[in-house]
Amino acid sequence: MAQIRIENLRKDFGAFNAVKSSSFTVENGEFFMLLGPSGCGKTTTLRMMAGLELPTSGEIYIGGEEVGMKRASERDIAFVFQMFALYPHMNVRKNISYPLVSQGLNKAEVASRVAEVAKILRIENILDKPVGGLSGGDRQRVALGRAIVRKPKAFFMDEPLGALDAEFREHMAEELRALHDRMGATTVYVTHDQLEAMQMGDKIVVMNHGVVEQFGKPQQIYDWPATKFVAKFIGSPPMNFLEFDGAIDIGGDEVNLSGTSVKVPVSRDKRLGKLALGVRPEHVRFKDGAALAGRVIAVEYLGTTQIVTLETPHGDIKARTPSNQAARVDELIGLEFDARTLTVFDSISGKALV
Ligand code: ATP
Repeated sequence: MAQIRIENLRKDFGAFNAVKSSSFTVENGEFFMLLGPSGCGKTTTLRMMAGLELPTSGEIYIGGEEVGMKRASERDIAFVFQMFALYPHMNVRKNISYPLVSQGLNKAEVASRVAEVAKILRIENILDKPVGGLSGGDRQRVALGRAIVRKPKAFFMDEPLGALDAEFREHMAEELRALHDRMGATTVYVTHDQLEAMQMGDKIVVMNHGVVEQFGKPQQIYDWPATKFVAKFIGSPPMNFLEFDGAIDIGGDEVNLSGTSVKVPVSRDKRLGKLALGVRPEHVRFKDGAALAGRVIAVEYLGTTQIVTLETPHGDIKARTPSNQAARVDELIGLEFDARTLTVFDSISGKALV
């Protein structure tokens, strides 16, 4: 088990800069998510951490030791790929034992480690079965067994559940998280799925165009996104932005919104310019007579809640409200926000102003 720290890590492929000077720390025992859209550089970052790709510059520390130029086999880590490759001609026990046998461990040691792993993964009853006839879930467990049996310092996983259908994926995600909680091994996990990252991660790094946009606990990232990109990428529907062009006036901690002052957590003095007020759909409240009004353009029923899309002078926004709250298309509805839930962004730089 180990802390993993990367400092100013960079990767160029020829003239293309895939990862720009990235720094973050994965604490010992954390389940750590690398999250971002396709092509953002998350896989390249993971591959550098695992030793499958050499960095162009920067440092990687695993358990305090700088390993940037070391091969994967010299880092005492395990990599779990999306396509779990098993040895088809061997049974489950042999598949799991293989890494230990090739390390030269004696028979008794191998047997006891395999028994321990089979217990953790709850696959004791299939140890003597051929892998060919196993269900997808059991194959996944056997592959995990092969990765954990060596007791490596850390696990690296690249979209391991990507190929599974939605229901089974959720089940395996819960299982993986529970397995991590039982073993407590440092795990770095790549995903483009923000829900998966929020559900499973102790911490999340959000990447975009090779840059670390934000790094923190899921709730910090959700409640206090550092950039508009993060605010849009996390949450479904994503955060709304009410755009103001010089008309928003922040003095102390007040924002003047269409004639109504609301307090927001902005520490700067008076600021004029292109600003965006970020509000999560669940924090938009309907209130008769509010200074800001929106015209309903769509209502999407979701069971206990509904998503109401409204057109306002500052852009369209979506509100998540109880589905018994009346909202008809074309109706004009007053809108109110709890200032503690708002984030103010500089529209040009995209950065939060807190
Ligand atoms: P995805 O989820 O689609 O794999 P990603 O965020 O994991 O996306 P990377 O695979 O890290 O992204 O790729 C980042 C960028 O680097 C992409 O534009 C990709 O085309 C490019 N890239 C990755 N590997 C190479 C390579 N070996 N040679 C050239 N370009 C590469």
